[in-house]
Amino acid sequence: MYAFTLERPTTTAAAAKLAADGAKPLAGGQTLLASMKQRLSSPDQLADLSGIKELSGIRREGNAFVIGAMTRHADVADNVELKAALPALAELAAHIGDRQVRAMGTLGGSVANNDPAACYPSAVLALGATIHTTARKIAADDFFLGMFATALNDGELITAISFPIPKRAAYMKFKQPASRFALVGVFIAQFDAGVRVAVTGAANGVFRHAGLEAALSKSFTPQAAAAVRIDATELNSDIHATAAYRANLISVQTQRGVARALG
Ligand SMILES: Cc1cc2nc3c(=O)[nH]c(=O)nc-3n(C[C@H](O)[C@H](O)[C@H](O)COP(=O)(O)OP(=O)(O)OC[C@H]3O[C@@H](n4cnc5c(N)ncnc54)[C@H](O)[C@@H]3O)c2cc1C
Repeated sequence: MYAFTLERPTTTAAAAKLAADGAKPLAGGQTLLASMKQRLSSPDQLADLSGIKELSGIRREGNAFVIGAMTRHADVADNVELKAALPALAELAAHIGDRQVRAMGTLGGSVANNDPAACYPSAVLALGATIHTTARKIAADDFFLGMFATALNDGELITAISFPIPKRAAYMKFKQPASRFALVGVFIAQFDAGVRVAVTGAANGVFRHAGLEAALSKSFTPQAAAAVRIDATELNSDIHATAAYRANLISVQTQRGVARALG
């Protein structure tokens, strides 16, 4: 490891000032510290967000859950109120990585990082969540800009994410067995206004699938999902799976997810 300075702010305002002055936010360190060890990232200064109490916690506000950016995956997985009202999100968190990753990794770190195979971005997009930052509120549809790219400006911190509670939802992850990230993950959410479907792991970034959304908004059944043709043209092919295989997985995981959401 090379030399850098580490700051430990105790308020969001102090962290925002450090970030505005160029410090790199450190959340659970599950991605950032590994990147620094590999010299893929070399910040001069880190601002450790773990001492900022107001950035952690889960609370219900009307028909939504507001989850602080520093809330660990394990705490999302174990939250009793969330498990009762939005179990798909708690289950998603319960199957991220391994026990250590879930103990340290955070919602804000995952969403800011926007790994194309990460689980949370699909929940944020399918649930039509709102990302609260130190500067503004950003709709999920405007937030994810492609591989590891988001609408966050330099120095802008995620403080919380607000997740509307759907009528039904499910997240189906087909794991890449070595990393446990999603080879393909599909998050399906049914609202009165229609169904939203977000896919992770299959392309260069999380995306909504218009064909599946239209079919499932008309008929929320596995059969309706099965009838949708999934175009493999823009999907990834790599040593783990071809684009055609991923396209088939999107269909199969969506059918399974709908069946699961229907109970
Ligand atoms: C072995 C392993 C397996 C994993 N498996 C999965 C999996 O199955 N599914 C999955 O979804 N993820 C998986 N992950 C990712 C993990 O869950 C973390 O979410 C991810 O590593 C980043 O979260 P973090 O809190 O550790 O952030 P950090 O590593 O601390 O930060 C990541 C990036 O986000 C920035 N950042 C952090 N917090 C904020 C903030 N509040 N505002 C703005 N920017 C911020 C940092 O500056 C950095 O650029 C895995 C990771 C590992 C190491």
